Amino acid sequence: MTPSAATEAEPLIPVVRARTVYIETFGCQMNLADTEVVLARLGEAGYRRVAEVEQASLVLYNTCAVRDHAEAKVRGRLGALKGLKRRRPELKIGIMGCMAQREKEQLLAAYPHVDLVVGTDQFVRMPQLLDQLEDQGRLAATSFGDFEDRMWSATRSSGVNAWVPIMRGCNYNCTYCVVPFTRGREKSRAPAQIEDEVRRLVDEGFAQVTLLGQTVDSYGKTLGDGTTLAALLRRVHAIDGLKRLRFVTSHPKDITDELLDTMAALPKVAKHLHVPAQCGSDRILRLMGRRYSRADYLDMVRRARARMPEIELLTDIIVGFPRETDEDFAQTVALMEEVRFAGAYVFMYSQRPDTPAANLPDDVPVEVKKARCNHLLDLQLVHQGQAYAPLTGRVLQVLVEGPSKSDEAMLHGRSLGNLNIVFPRVDAAGTGRDDLIGQLVDVRIARSTSLTLFGDVVA
Ligand code: SF4
Repeated sequence: MTPSAATEAEPLIPVVRARTVYIETFGCQMNLADTEVVLARLGEAGYRRVAEVEQASLVLYNTCAVRDHAEAKVRGRLGALKGLKRRRPELKIGIMGCMAQREKEQLLAAYPHVDLVVGTDQFVRMPQLLDQLEDQGRLAATSFGDFEDRMWSATRSSGVNAWVPIMRGCNYNCTYCVVPFTRGREKSRAPAQIEDEVRRLVDEGFAQVTLLGQTVDSYGKTLGDGTTLAALLRRVHAIDGLKRLRFVTSHPKDITDELLDTMAALPKVAKHLHVPAQCGSDRILRLMGRRYSRADYLDMVRRARARMPEIELLTDIIVGFPRETDEDFAQTVALMEEVRFAGAYVFMYSQRPDTPAANLPDDVPVEVKKARCNHLLDLQLVHQGQAYAPLTGRVLQVLVEGPSKSDEAMLHGRSLGNLNIVFPRVDAAGTGRDDLIGQLVDVRIARSTSLTLFGDVVA
């Protein structure tokens, strides 16, 4: 039978090589970094990554539990795999990440075709867990364990930016958030180990590293020796060949003057903070357990801009938290008007089981949540348009990341403030410019939309 003669009743079963893994990552940069670690451990065990589920002997979903929507996507993927598992019973299907940590054995009960559930402190043992599967059948490994060095070393595909986790977990207990349950208590990584890794990455050709933590600016507290993020930035910044250094995500309470002074003094450190405000109303901030007030947040913005007038601030906002009134929402609008963020991720509140906020009634109707969300997204676009327009004619230093996703004829990169900038992929003489990928170039801005700045390279 020729391949084209296959019918639905007789599906084609591609030849699958043993030890091939398909992995899909949901959620935050921390999950992307965990995926790189698990690929490194699997690579040591002889696994090769493949691009299609059908080519894999092992399918892994690295999941997110922050919003119901993220979990629903994974449930959809799992449902779609039932047929493949029926046709290829030897296929192993695993779930890792925050949803795995949150639901544990329940996932095995709900999805009989899933073989393995692996928690956020256990994924480093993936090859051993797969061996265990051979003997004991399906299993869930979700205990919080010792902090292993292997949690850090990762396999990265080549590129311009490398994510470098410098801590795990979170010691805050924001009432809406599952992270304290799914990732455990905060633990910082030794600075010497981070420095060694960044040196290796620079030797491999990475131009930028982004230091990662759930509350990255509280880095060092658990080391107990006075180490701070500022001290780590100074250490990593000194590495020859590193072109740019970023860090995410910040908690407003941990942004010290020492950190801001250090950012201002170090030229390779991006003048950019991703620092979620979540809300502009003190009443709701208290219900969220965020541990700062609106005034504290504005003071942090003032301190940052006093030292770095061109710093770009990115925020996260949750609308429709329980008991959020029109007046509370108006305070969030006013905060956005006052700060004028360079970017904002706006989310509708999603009640998560077992969080303290789940004890509050989810009492803002979904239409109201949607309207508030759209209002803030529209406002943010207006602010971005107004902020970008005056940049026309300015020359900005850009780290070139690669071809633009929306237009192959353009290259795109990021300014020191992390603004998205695109310019032609060939110069006026018709010569290609792909050799600029990974380089810092000066770009003169010619025009802008509310999302992107357009320009050309200054000779
Ligand atoms: S700071 Fe709050 S929102 Fe952020 S990870 Fe920790 S508990 Fe969650």
